[in-house]
Amino acid sequence: MQNIAALLEATHERITAAAQRAQRDPAEITLVAVSKGQSVEAIRQAAAAGVQYIGENRVQEAEEKATLLQHEPLPLTWHLIGHLQRNKAAPAVRLFDMVQSLDSVRLARTLNQQRAKRLDNGDAPHDAPPGAPLPVLLQVNVSGEASKEGFDLPGGVENHALLPRLFEEVELILGLPWLRVQGLMTIAPLSADPQAARPVFRNLRLLRDTLAQRFPRATWHHLSMGMSNDFEVAIEERATIVRIGRAIFGERLHKT
Ligand SMILES: *Cc1c(COP(=O)(O)O)cnc(C)c1O
Repeated sequence: MQNIAALLEATHERITAAAQRAQRDPAEITLVAVSKGQSVEAIRQAAAAGVQYIGENRVQEAEEKATLLQHEPLPLTWHLIGHLQRNKAAPAVRLFDMVQSLDSVRLARTLNQQRAKRLDNGDAPHDAPPGAPLPVLLQVNVSGEASKEGFDLPGGVENHALLPRLFEEVELILGLPWLRVQGLMTIAPLSADPQAARPVFRNLRLLRDTLAQRFPRATWHHLSMGMSNDFEVAIEERATIVRIGRAIFGERLHKT
């Protein structure tokens, strides 16, 4: 296995340097360590080295790992970062502390229902405090790349044909009481040149600013953008969450 502690430290140094270049406080940026395709032992090592946020893109894989780790006192917070099928919504609301990959109104409705159910189906102890709404990010495909999940808005706020529909969808989602929207997430197209992602990240930020103006009662704090090959550019474009896998864990053991 890689020396995860050393890779993690190097990653934190790069995050700090990128934040300083952009005159930002590095403490504003949350690192989500993406452990898809990695072993449970790799997660243990990352946790021992100080990782708190874990990103997984599949419910089943995350469930298996969380089950193996459940008796260990690791203070981990799990984020779902991959497309969620609606028939997996029930385990997802139990397992994840945040769903970053909310990509349709239908899925939002299902998650909302499951989260409400989870609160009154008795699987919480009787003296547990009332449950909280599930934090979510809206995944938006601002790049227009055909393979990407997410609400479709190629070109971002300049897309006058699709923006009104996104506003309608956002309005519906904001009306769901058991979800709490906290911002946006995007994936930039794979490229050998990290700078190629900059316009995509900028478009996500401009969309966030537009939504914050239009829906001021919701929270639009988070911009989850940037992966191993482009997180520094994302931080310069004001990412608050970066999702980093290979730079911390090395290459994945299996394709996910
Ligand atoms: C796999 C994945 C990442 C991490 O990718 P790396 O290139 O390993 O850093 C981040 N976000 C999402 C949505 C992913 O699927």
